[in-house]
Amino acid sequence: MTSNCIFCGKAETSKEHAFPEWLMNRYRAPGSLEHQRSLHAVPRIKKRVDCLRITVECVCRKCNNEWMSGLQARAIPVITRLLDCPTCTLDTHDCKTLALWAVMSTMVLETFNEAETWRFTDLERCLFHKCEQIPPFTRVWTAKWIASPGPFYESHNQATEKSSDRGTVTTFAFGNLAFQVLKVVPHNPKMSSFFVATWPGLPWDQIMLQVWEPQVVPICWPPLMAIHGEADFDELALRFSPPSVEDSDSPERS
Ligand SMILES: [Zn+2]
Repeated sequence: MTSNCIFCGKAETSKEHAFPEWLMNRYRAPGSLEHQRSLHAVPRIKKRVDCLRITVECVCRKCNNEWMSGLQARAIPVITRLLDCPTCTLDTHDCKTLALWAVMSTMVLETFNEAETWRFTDLERCLFHKCEQIPPFTRVWTAKWIASPGPFYESHNQATEKSSDRGTVTTFAFGNLAFQVLKVVPHNPKMSSFFVATWPGLPWDQIMLQVWEPQVVPICWPPLMAIHGEADFDELALRFSPPSVEDSDSPERS
């Protein structure tokens, strides 16, 4: 938690929900919440929840009531289309809107944990707020979730011991829709691009639609394959994490 607004820096914050009321009301069913408060916090916090009700105190009333609620309003029709339409397409503008919404939610969710785990910087949040600039080394995907047991949120801090790059993978889902936001802080900030290692598992290239930055537009929804139930969601949330049992397989580069 912070006493200054994470977006504009104003020395005033108010209690707000990380996820909007309309979404919480629509998916009021038992779900799950899992995150790690600090880099050294063991065990991770894992609990069942009634809905995605996560209260944070990190933004000022003005930000919340003005640009943030404006972005929520712009995202509602795009998110609703993915939730309600069997098939649809996403153009460049839709992809940007979804990415902005998912990144804003992730920036807010980060503050649920200790500041040492935050991966977006003050400057990145400022440019996001002022210019709608999605920070570098950020990727956003959506996926279709079949037989979802309820709304889920899970975040993982990426390898800090074996890799000099740091990162956070934030995954949240409601209804048949899952979002995943990856933010990497590369050891060498002059890198112009980055590789993301995924580990042997589900065919992610058929499951995940990359909405930031989109590779081709328009994007056709739904993806070729979906994730099913809680087990697949857990695998999705961990797709960038090394398997817990060491083996000789090299990570597949994508
Ligand atoms: Zn503010």
